[in-house]
Amino acid sequence: MISSSPVWHPFTQHAVHGEIPAIVRTDGAWLEVADGRRIFDAISSWWVITHGHRYRPIMQAIRAETERLDQVIFAGFTHPPAEELARQLIAITPSELTHVFFSDSGSTAVEVALKMALGFWLHSGEGRRHILALERAYHGDTIGAMSVGQRGVFNAPYHPLLFDVGRLPFPHQGREQETLDALDQACRERPVAALIVEPLILGAGGMLIYQPTVLAEMARICRHHGVLLIADEVMTGWGRTGTLFACEQAGIVPDIACYSKGLTGGVLPLAVTLCQRAIFDAHYAEDRRKTFFHSSSYTANPIACAAALANLKVWRSEPVRERIAALAEVHTKALDRFRDDRRFENVRQLGTIAALDLVVNDSGYLADIGPRLYRHFLARDMLVRPLGNTIYLMPPYCSTADELSAVYEAIAALDVDH
Ligand code: PMP
Repeated sequence: MISSSPVWHPFTQHAVHGEIPAIVRTDGAWLEVADGRRIFDAISSWWVITHGHRYRPIMQAIRAETERLDQVIFAGFTHPPAEELARQLIAITPSELTHVFFSDSGSTAVEVALKMALGFWLHSGEGRRHILALERAYHGDTIGAMSVGQRGVFNAPYHPLLFDVGRLPFPHQGREQETLDALDQACRERPVAALIVEPLILGAGGMLIYQPTVLAEMARICRHHGVLLIADEVMTGWGRTGTLFACEQAGIVPDIACYSKGLTGGVLPLAVTLCQRAIFDAHYAEDRRKTFFHSSSYTANPIACAAALANLKVWRSEPVRERIAALAEVHTKALDRFRDDRRFENVRQLGTIAALDLVVNDSGYLADIGPRLYRHFLARDMLVRPLGNTIYLMPPYCSTADELSAVYEAIAALDVDH
């Protein structure tokens, strides 16, 4: 236990949190505490770790790269790991995505996407500025990313800084047409620059799943109105939803796509925002005012790029898709027993992501139930961080059926008095 630590932790209310375990080693799907206790990482350390912690080929690639490069300024200079990574990303994504802009977190990838969209419209002479987003969306914690996210307890103190966006209702099952009509209506009312979506599943908003056909229809409406579609695949990318990227399931090509988290297998921070040629071209001019003015010191860190290249090689050379399918099957079988269990509702799954809601009176994010559930699992050496009353599992792909079964047993053992 760390006491009197100067560290201020993210999304952590120190006044009530209690013990914060110090992790001294990671291995596969496990976190090892200083006292030797091992904790099963059922949420891939905030959704980043894909193949497993310290996945050997990625760690080796990092070690090798440190013999050649550290950080190199990326304005006016380039380096082989970034060039090669950009080429490979272009090769594995739809051919319409032609350019890769590097940054270092999901939030910055989203900021870049929004700035690209606005730059595109301004430099094309139309000056569209209005952005649309889904209710319950989460796109990160920087000001622009918060602006397009759901307003609520997460960002209430910062509302004066956030810009207005148009909100579309989440496409709940059976009410999808409301979302599509709202999108069409919003696009008719005023010029819209872009729609940003988390494809197929809203993560931090509560693991809310919607149909690929709805995403495809949203893309069609956007195209009809000339509205740019931004796919935030920060959480959904790298196999989480069963395919490499969620957009594949809807057969759509976004104008701008954001990837991070599993891009390096989750080992190092890195993000990319891919865009179609027209967006790059709108910024391409003798007029230097049309430069894309975004950078961060660590843009395209070579070691992080090397980790990402190693990750792509893992995807090419190992049966990652089979592992994902096997993991999804374990979820499907395990979830079945909860469908008739009256303690739970909305039992759902998308690829490697499983979720169910505990039936409670107060289900808000700040409801007491969240921390109580968290403690229930931690007491059983499992890292599960419910979103309010939503329990979800998003484990690394190396997780075994036995490891996952143990978590499902812990869910079944829930006896929360509420
Ligand atoms: N977009 C989505 C869909 C996310 O789930 C997240 C993080 N969970 C982000 C953006 C922000 O990513 P980061 O925390 O790396 O800034």
